[in-house]
Amino acid sequence: MSDATAEDMKGFEGFTYLPKFDTIEEERRHRKERLAASFRLFGRFGFDEGVAGHITARDPEHLDHFWVNPFGMSFSHIRVSDLILVNDQGDVVEGNAAVNAAAFAIHSQVHAARPDVIAAAHSHSIYGKSWSTLGRLLDPLTQDACAFYDDHALFDDYTGVVLDPEEGKRLSHALGDGKAVILRNHGLLTVGHSVDEAAWWFITMERSCQAQLLAEAAGTPVLIAEESARLTATQVGSHLAGWFSFSPLYDWIVREQPDLLD
Ligand SMILES: [Zn+2]
Repeated sequence: MSDATAEDMKGFEGFTYLPKFDTIEEERRHRKERLAASFRLFGRFGFDEGVAGHITARDPEHLDHFWVNPFGMSFSHIRVSDLILVNDQGDVVEGNAAVNAAAFAIHSQVHAARPDVIAAAHSHSIYGKSWSTLGRLLDPLTQDACAFYDDHALFDDYTGVVLDPEEGKRLSHALGDGKAVILRNHGLLTVGHSVDEAAWWFITMERSCQAQLLAEAAGTPVLIAEESARLTATQVGSHLAGWFSFSPLYDWIVREQPDLLD
């Protein structure tokens, strides 16, 4: 699978976007490694809040199944062998743990509504949830924030913990064809064409929320002009840029916590 245009490849010449696999088993293993590493990074960055939060990776064979974290396990302990596989009915079909009902209600609907999406990430990280209470989209304040320019949405409602797939459907509708949605009074949700990309958008969006909160607390920030924001979005906001930005973080966390691959 390759969805990078020649334009996207500008500045990334010499890199092979998205590895190719000879077998489904190898592709599945790769996705699970990326997923376990994403949890370790979320744990390392303090994105966990008790048992809240989930990242999912679509199974490469059973396209309506996804891999997810076992309910109640610390992000910081998750290994590849701990991940569980959930079908489109919410049943755990591989692994010996329960699935968080909210993870199923939200992610099953996102994966169903967006066949292009391989992975989705959501947690109650502190800056994302703080920003979400303002009921506003992020402004193009920094180069990094331009990744979300005209490519994220606001789910302008909050009615309790998302346990009903119908609510997950409403939320997916708000996401539309963008890379992220701010869930008001709740937190952030990001998606990607790879696990790497979904995890990266989450990490950088959390930091963009932090940057805007800091900047607005200190004064009146200057916005990047629309034309420049639009150009920058094509440079830092492509599927390829998101995928590639994750690679140093993956290498770092695997070197620091190699047991995540067990
Ligand atoms: Zn949540």
